This record gives sequence, C-alpha cells and structure tokens, in this order.
Amino acid sequence: MAPQCRAHSYILPAIGLALGIVFSTAVMAQDAQTVTTYDVVTPPSCTNNKGETVRFIDSSGGRSGLAAGMANRDSSGKPVVFRSNYTATPPEFQSFIDRHECAHHQTGDVDRPHPPRNSPEHLMNESISDCVAILRLRDEEGYDQAGFDRVSAAMRNDMAKIGFPEISISSRISNIDNCFTEYGAPQEFVIGILKQRGLLQP
Ligand SMILES: [Zn+2]
Repeated sequence: MAPQCRAHSYILPAIGLALGIVFSTAVMAQDAQTVTTYDVVTPPSCTNNKGETVRFIDSSGGRSGLAAGMANRDSSGKPVVFRSNYTATPPEFQSFIDRHECAHHQTGDVDRPHPPRNSPEHLMNESISDCVAILRLRDEEGYDQAGFDRVSAAMRNDMAKIGFPEISISSRISNIDNCFTEYGAPQEFVIGILKQRGLLQP
C-alpha cells in the first residue's frame, strides 16, 4: 500500500511538468500570432524648468514590442522626448510614459549630471518622475481608481517582460499608489523638488 502511494507522488509532478511545457508552448505560439497594437495617444503639453517647450518625437528605435520614452536635448539643444514602440502598450501607459519623461524636464534632471545607473539618486529621480506622471493623470486627465489600475497593470506587464524582479515591480507600483492617494497637485510637487535643488526660477 505504502509503495503505491509513493508511486503516485512521483507521477503527479511528472504530469504537472508535462502540462506546464504544453501550456507555455501554447502561450508562446499565441504571442507570436496575435500581437495587440494600440493607437498612439496625443502627447501632453510639457514645459521644462527653464520655460522651454518640450517636443515629443516618435522614433523607431528601442526594443521591439516594448514601449519606452527618453528625455533629452536634441542636436540643436532643444528639449525633446523620444517615444519608441508606443503601439505596444495601452493608451493609459503611453500617457504615463509621456508625463514621466516630461517630468525629467520639469524637474531639471535632463540638464543635471546623470547619477550612476541604479544608484539611490537615480532611483529617487525615477520615483519623482513617476509621481509627477500619476498626479498629472489624476488631476489633468481625471484618472480614477480604474484608470490607475490600468496604468499599474501595464507597468507590471512591461517590467516583467524586461525581467525586473517582483520586488522592483511592487515597490514602483506602491510609490505611484502612494502619490495618487496622498499627494497634492503636481505643480506644487514639482515646485518643491525645484526648491530643494535650488533650481526655482525667480
Ligand atoms: Zn525616467
């Protein structure tokens, strides 16, 4: 009796493994066949901390299937946001990326020395830009909890695709959740950051 029971416990994991393999193959096949694409949203208005208008430019670079943005100055020194592969992510997350990149201009990040990648200073800049972005969506676009949930779902999905660990994903979402529920107007928040950095224009 006892050996039979033990035999079962070996068979069941084997079946589970086989099912797992079949399932993941099916998912891969589905991904390859039906890639969802979205219309690209109109960019928001964006002005940097020096009062310059920021232009949004759709660019063809970046990792295919992964929406991304980059805040920079172009070759003639004009402030820009480069948007890549926006059709790969839902409109709510496109809107979030636009405002996140804009925030790097609003807070003066773009013209300050780049902190080392993944240093506390770098992560702080990212958290600040995330916070400004979600506050603008709340106050200017009227995002309610359902809107917030669509942003966080897409954020989770895209970060998992890149391979971020769960702790990075959940702490980033908890930061925007905290901003969304606790913070005041985005303009006030940006002014506070500029003051702290000594970048407030007289
Ligand atoms: Zn950023």
